[in-house]
Amino acid sequence: MLDVIALPAFSDNYIWLLRLRGDKRCWVVDPGEAAPVQRYIQSQDLQLEGILLTHHHPDHIGGVEELAQPSTTIIGSFQDVYRLPKLSLQVAAGDRFQVLGETVQVMEVPGHTLGHLAFYIADQSPPLLFCGDTLFAGGCGRLFEGTPEQMHASLQSLAQLPEKTLVFAAHEYTLKNLQFALEVEPGNQALQERYQACEKLRAEHKPTLPSTIVDEKATNPFLRVEVPEVIQSASNKAQQTSLKEPVDVFATLRKWKDSA
Ligand SMILES: [Zn+2]
Repeated sequence: MLDVIALPAFSDNYIWLLRLRGDKRCWVVDPGEAAPVQRYIQSQDLQLEGILLTHHHPDHIGGVEELAQPSTTIIGSFQDVYRLPKLSLQVAAGDRFQVLGETVQVMEVPGHTLGHLAFYIADQSPPLLFCGDTLFAGGCGRLFEGTPEQMHASLQSLAQLPEKTLVFAAHEYTLKNLQFALEVEPGNQALQERYQACEKLRAEHKPTLPSTIVDEKATNPFLRVEVPEVIQSASNKAQQTSLKEPVDVFATLRKWKDSA
């Protein structure tokens, strides 16, 4: 079984570190800075075997140059080969590779950036998903490069994963996301309960992540664009009688959140 460790970075990033108990090797996802990784690796006497990069933003790749040794495998999207540092393996949708003996499947999830990837490990119980800035607990990434259509489709593809899949997003944005979600869907009881549970975790300085696909489907408005209360709130915001297409509901929510 893989262990996944949260290494906090900057003010609200998580660098996820993967290791096997009793094994010196480890991998990290999106090391925006090197120091938190170096500290953990030294304290546990580990060796960094590889790095997974979901996308090219500096707070996800800033530590790569400092962490990479000649033997370190660095994996990212073929689309961002000129923007990702030191790539040793370029991957695309449907590709598979091994991390610590486990098969990792590559998903392309454009929207936040065009070359954004998610990494899915199916053969763990529960399965693991590393989704960068695409799906957050209670929210989703801003559309810096892609269209609402692309991001909506990307989120829908993640929502198809098994419900118990653990969602390792790259930021601790959960409380703010859930506050927005409550504006959209004040009548959602599961959402109210989740907000209280996450408030308690943050008061204890604990991460609200990983989340699960089932919790996201129950509380994340960006995955709930076909729910009547969400459609109604978005329609009110857009001053439309009723938004017909799920992607229009999604686009309205995203714009609303951007200006909130
Ligand atoms: Zn980003």
